[in-house]
Amino acid sequence: MTDPETLSVTIVDGYVDEPAHFGVPPYISTYPRYAAGALVDAGVPRDQITYHTIDRLRDQPDYWRDVDEADLMIYLGGMTVPGKYVGGTPAEPDEVRKLAWTATGTSLMGGPVKFGVGDENAGATETERQDLDFDFVAKGDVEAAVHDLVDSGLEGFNNRMRDLDEVSRWAQQGAFIVEQHPNHPAHLICELETSRGCAYRCSFCTEPLYGNPEFRPPPTVVGEVDALSDYGVKHFRIGRQADILAYGGDGEAPNPDAVRQLYSGIREVAPDLETLHLDNMNPITIVNWPEKSREGIRIIAEHNTPGDTAAFGLESADPVVQEENNLNVTAEECFEAVRIVNEAAGWRPGEDPADAPTFGDGAPRRLPKLLPGINLLHGLKGEREETYERNRAFLQRVYDEGYMLRRINIRQVMAFDGTDMSDTGAEIAHDHKQLFKRYKKRVREEIDNPMLERVAPPGTVLPDVHLEYHQDGTTFGRQLGTYPLLVGVPGERELGRTIDVAVVDHGYRSVTGVPYPLDLNAASMNELTAIPGIGDSTAGDIVVNRPYESIADADLGTAFDLSQFVTTRSLESAD
Ligand code: SF4
Repeated sequence: MTDPETLSVTIVDGYVDEPAHFGVPPYISTYPRYAAGALVDAGVPRDQITYHTIDRLRDQPDYWRDVDEADLMIYLGGMTVPGKYVGGTPAEPDEVRKLAWTATGTSLMGGPVKFGVGDENAGATETERQDLDFDFVAKGDVEAAVHDLVDSGLEGFNNRMRDLDEVSRWAQQGAFIVEQHPNHPAHLICELETSRGCAYRCSFCTEPLYGNPEFRPPPTVVGEVDALSDYGVKHFRIGRQADILAYGGDGEAPNPDAVRQLYSGIREVAPDLETLHLDNMNPITIVNWPEKSREGIRIIAEHNTPGDTAAFGLESADPVVQEENNLNVTAEECFEAVRIVNEAAGWRPGEDPADAPTFGDGAPRRLPKLLPGINLLHGLKGEREETYERNRAFLQRVYDEGYMLRRINIRQVMAFDGTDMSDTGAEIAHDHKQLFKRYKKRVREEIDNPMLERVAPPGTVLPDVHLEYHQDGTTFGRQLGTYPLLVGVPGERELGRTIDVAVVDHGYRSVTGVPYPLDLNAASMNELTAIPGIGDSTAGDIVVNRPYESIADADLGTAFDLSQFVTTRSLESAD
């Protein structure tokens, strides 16, 4: 029998991406935090718990020693939606196997990895569950397995789900683990869980495998935020739920009072937070309960930080696909939900919420508080050529009728055991690969680009952009938050720093920005030529004729209104 007090434990985070849960850096999912809390609750001293991300093990191989020497090694990971990531690279099956082989103590694997492992983390793949040579695989909740395994002296556990009391306790007790994340403190965002499970049963989705939704009451989530703030976390996303509007209700209908308690409670315990975003919102809730939903959406927009996104799982605008895959929202209903979110929350800081949605010349140069995002999924049962046209036409209509979408996410299906899609597999996605490519390109060019210009017009200020990597002489970075815009800043700037940026140009899904405010007396040639209408020769003249006392003194030669983000500050401060 192993005494918990003497146990050394290493947690390795291989990252997760589920339909309603994200944990690739800069995000940390709930899994390592809950697992750490379960260990503490079972009697393991905090200072004997080590946490590593898979990227840290790759970058600093010496840390593999912690995997080797721990009495208990816990691997957490699993991707049940496909994706490409900037902030980290999820563990590949071979690396997970190496973890098991390296561990000389007991090894346990858990998280969504229990749903299956593909050959690679990509769309249009089929998956199967593999044990990857671990001693134990948690087929229920990994945090419950961790607790019971330690409790049994590392003998074993029964697969089970954790209950509400346990998760409330473990979420707070495990908050300390965030200090060991390589991104802590400034560049880390904590995914928060308000519920698991879903009242609906879409064919491709793993969320219903958790059953009907069970909500964590506001005080437990607020208590967790309080604990995380005590460990220096300033960025939060309420992303671990199928539908934030259904929070605290009967499973389907909204309960705005619960949403208010949650959001105002978080603001109270973390008054200095810098990001408060959400993830999923179900458009069918908005259509079925429009007034209560409007109220809930307004409450969210009062308390969140700008640039927030309510991701809508339309998945397909084709009624045939909707029918065959048990999708719960029609294109018409989704359009209605897009309209309501735009009206209730599409305002920008500094303006009257009643004016929403606003864009164009008169709108303040900040991102709107909350906008819908649209998820579209291809390769579903019943998909035909017409499906692609219907999806495109839906997006075009949103643009043409004057509404905004913060992002359009187009993916191909991954087929998981236990979901209705497992029989169909990835066959349709394979057959339609060329069609998919052409359509995606068209959406990017014809809708994403003008929509992005509407959402973030030139001059829009994006505070606190974290500079992440260099490519072709440009520095790329993102704000912390839900689906942040990728921002390219001319020149190679020091990475790891944070700067304020003003948008000057738009790609399909990214923007070009210059440091805000841009000082005419110090700006580089690259920065000046990034501004529309300023070519090499004008930029050269601007540089040669420095210094300027005011912007009016410079002959900028562009009709573009620069007054919103250009200054002559260095000269002014030199005076
Ligand atoms: S509504 Fe459908 S896609 Fe969304 S979480 Fe529920 S089952 Fe999954």
